[in-house]
Amino acid sequence: MRRAIVLGGSIAGLGAARVLSDHADQVVVIEPDDLRLSAEVRRGVPQGTQVHAVLSMGSDLLERWLPGLTDELIADGAIFNRGDEIEHYFDGVLKVRVPEHTIGLTRPMLEGHIRRRVLDDGRLRLVQGRAQGLLFAGERVTGVRYVPAGAKESETLAADLVVDATGRGTQLDRWLSVAGWSPPALERMDLQLGYATALFGSGDELPELNVVQAISTPQGPYRDSFAAARVEGGRWMVVVAAYGQDRPTRAPEEFIRRCQDSRIRPIDEIASRCPMEGEVTTYTMADSRRRMFTALHRFPAGLVAVGDSVASFNPVYGQGMTSALLQGSCLSAYLRSGASLDQPAWDYFRRVRVIVDAAWGLSTLMDLALPHVDGPYPRGYRFTRWYSEVFNRATFTDPDLHRLFLEVAHMRKHPRALSRPGTVAALTRALLASRLGSPRATV
Ligand SMILES: Cc1cc2nc3c(=O)[nH]c(=O)nc-3n(C[C@H](O)[C@H](O)[C@H](O)COP(=O)(O)OP(=O)(O)OC[C@H]3O[C@@H](n4cnc5c(N)ncnc54)[C@H](O)[C@@H]3O)c2cc1C
Repeated sequence: MRRAIVLGGSIAGLGAARVLSDHADQVVVIEPDDLRLSAEVRRGVPQGTQVHAVLSMGSDLLERWLPGLTDELIADGAIFNRGDEIEHYFDGVLKVRVPEHTIGLTRPMLEGHIRRRVLDDGRLRLVQGRAQGLLFAGERVTGVRYVPAGAKESETLAADLVVDATGRGTQLDRWLSVAGWSPPALERMDLQLGYATALFGSGDELPELNVVQAISTPQGPYRDSFAAARVEGGRWMVVVAAYGQDRPTRAPEEFIRRCQDSRIRPIDEIASRCPMEGEVTTYTMADSRRRMFTALHRFPAGLVAVGDSVASFNPVYGQGMTSALLQGSCLSAYLRSGASLDQPAWDYFRRVRVIVDAAWGLSTLMDLALPHVDGPYPRGYRFTRWYSEVFNRATFTDPDLHRLFLEVAHMRKHPRALSRPGTVAALTRALLASRLGSPRATV
């Protein structure tokens, strides 16, 4: 391929650009923001002030594509966390600790390092500008129309492949419709999720702990979910998340009070003992959403989408960046298969669907239990929900089941792994051993 164009220079766009650099003579990334602001939260990524957990599958992919990245991040102050430094709570109950690893850092730092490494490649060119539409010839996309930063007139650029990585707010549906193509159906699930994040200076509190994740469900005793991670610069980054009317505000005293009322000891301790640095920032997410590309009967060749423009999930489960990177690996597999770019990229979209369905299934299974969410319920929901509650309770005490659960949650294994015969047998043994009692069914 002579030239590929990636629209959007965020995590999905950079991952796709890295993959494309193995297949194209030139890769052009078009991004409206001035990407020299590497340590800043930029306009195009307003969620960048919020806690961003990198799931272990995501960091492994980054390390594979950008060898040495983890060491660079750690040298620059990111925190490498092992299982004994991580605590997971569910409805206030601390789960058994198991081996795992994560990196603690802010989103701008992660993106800045990935960007520098990806753009180091001489085949990549960054153009500051805003995409405004696609160019079509017959049944294929042949390039893009964009307005360069500071210019009034749009310009065009030809490409053999265009990748839409413009995020949740993508204009792809409109661009396709204008040219007479049906856009993919958009499935939404109501969320009304509110996030509030604050930084705290860290000192000698909690010496053996680097990461806390505390998920609350409407069936449990608490309304707020929390996460805290040590990040670069000797700080804790803490998030409070809640739904509907319970969404947190930017008031610092409310943030601290909610942490102190959490009954999660380390969250209370950080808020009570550490000084808050800067302001509380908030973010509201109205829905989870995914685009059903594989349900289309017709789609132009020379065009794919990646990342949040394909699917954007409840961020409480931290799947967004890893899902985007896994979609990048689908693009890699698709291009390596020798598929013709003159045909619609159905094979790519089928691969992506496996990733998206897995992430969607996990996060919406929990979200469907929220009182304000009324579907759509997938087939077999009642049983799946019941099984997941039984499984989840077993992860409180059974290290093997908790480790397996985390491998799925970190997107290293497909959720099917949780219901394989050997796992069901292990779960039954765990249930009998601890006499967990019967779980609650919620619908
Ligand atoms: C509150 C919150 C917390 C989150 N926490 C986590 C977490 O803990 N872990 C995790 O993995 N994920 C998390 N996510 C999800 C994560 O932010 C995204 O999944 C991730 O950034 C990948 O998105 P993306 O690259 O597809 O889109 P984005 O990151 O949204 O980037 C889109 C890019 O496209 C550019 N763009 C927009 N329009 C145009 C245009 N017309 N032309 C060219 N470029 C354009 C934008 O400037 C931007 O750079 C969170 C999201 C939210 C909202």
